[in-house]
Amino acid sequence: EFVTVSELASMMDVQSTQVISACMSLGIFASINQRLDAETISIVASEFGFEVEFVSAEVQDAIPTVEDKEEDLKDRPPIITVMGHVDHGKTSLLDYIRNATVVDGEAGGITQHIGAYSVTREDGKKLTFLDTPGHEAFTAMRARGAQVTDVAIIIVAADDDVMPQTKEAISHAQAAGVPMVFAINKIDKPGANPDRIREQLSQMNILVEDWGGKYQAQEISAKKGLNIDELLEKVILEADLLELKANPNKNAVGTVVESSLDKGKGYITNMLVEAGTLRIGDVILAGRHSGRVRAMHNEHGKELKEAGPSTPVSILGINGAPSAGDKFHVMDDEREARSIATKREQLYREQGLRTQKHLTLEEIGRRLALGDFKELNVIVKGDVDGSIEALSDSLLKLSTEEIQVNIVHKAVGAITEADVNLASASDAIIIGFQVRPQASARKLAETEQIDIRLYSVIYKAIDELKQAMEGMLSPDI
Ligand code: GDP
Repeated sequence: EFVTVSELASMMDVQSTQVISACMSLGIFASINQRLDAETISIVASEFGFEVEFVSAEVQDAIPTVEDKEEDLKDRPPIITVMGHVDHGKTSLLDYIRNATVVDGEAGGITQHIGAYSVTREDGKKLTFLDTPGHEAFTAMRARGAQVTDVAIIIVAADDDVMPQTKEAISHAQAAGVPMVFAINKIDKPGANPDRIREQLSQMNILVEDWGGKYQAQEISAKKGLNIDELLEKVILEADLLELKANPNKNAVGTVVESSLDKGKGYITNMLVEAGTLRIGDVILAGRHSGRVRAMHNEHGKELKEAGPSTPVSILGINGAPSAGDKFHVMDDEREARSIATKREQLYREQGLRTQKHLTLEEIGRRLALGDFKELNVIVKGDVDGSIEALSDSLLKLSTEEIQVNIVHKAVGAITEADVNLASASDAIIIGFQVRPQASARKLAETEQIDIRLYSVIYKAIDELKQAMEGMLSPDI
């Protein structure tokens, strides 16, 4: 019913014949390709010292996904996230852009925070900004399988250095495959030295355009509003390359950005429509919740009747608070939406937060045996730069023709929640060298089932990874 004899054998790293004879001792005469039932699997596995945990498959949601026809696809505005080190000017930049481009008629309205906003430039081009600055939101969403960013602005203060969080932001964007535009900020300050930033970026293999590289960069002052237009031009250029399109003429789909409970109004859900058009009265399924769109507003508090691709909206009518990063779908049948939501809620309660099994060193052997293992993503945290570099270099050298080792992120410092989220988003393991996880990171790693390995000797770390890659590491039980 579940797995075959040979699959079970390879999971436990034993011979199929050993599984067959274990079955025989139970009075079951199984062939190598025979599927075993849950009870048999449990008993046989325990004979070999394993405990079996059954994880039911994700509910197959009956949401029809129709391929869009080429002629139905229309251009859509890019969705942009601003990331960077604390105090380097993320909020100032987002505020400036929002205030500088308020369209006549919308000015004077009360600007509300709905997690994202949309601006229209003089040439009519629209841009959508996620206005929860920082990579925490970005990565938390990605960890839930949602990627809503098309272009990332990495902001760096020119009177400071490329800082740990700058590096993190860059790693996160790179891991997500999102193009970056660099905003070198605070050039109005007397101590500003933009070239030092270009230099430090180049040390990370990021060569900006004015230095002959491929990354666009713009000197700005977010506070004074200097060169912001030029920055946005570059963002648009980057976005144009992506040829972003969506079909506006279908049931809306998109991502939840945030949600809250208002004592008077009920649940407020802020979301981004990604494709299709959302309308008042639509039946919606969002994560483990459902409902009907009772009211819909934009960030100026203006009531909307409909919202097309890349539009941020705040809606009322969902019967709960879906999580940031949950997908939403408009459905034709309210009963069906409710029944899928209920099923998801049941699964959620039964299984806890996660059904997805993340990578552990022991998992590697199993995935190798199944032949579906090509890349090993690693995050390296350590106490000093030198050892991080040495360790990363050695790990990269473990790459073989079959398995490519990628260092998704490396940095000095304790293992943080951001690291765990990145690991979750990119299915990576975390290696800590002479550092420990913060308490919050340890907790998150437990729920997310992220493998954190701590070492104090470099060769031990290399050795263990090497063994794992050779499928030699036996599961610790
Ligand atoms: P965030 O933490 O990245 O969101 O940074 P903020 O936008 O809150 O900015 C941190 C501080 O830097 C604030 O005091 C801002 O006023 C200041 N700041 C931001 N951009 C500029 C700028 O271009 N020039 C100057 N002089 N100060 C800036």
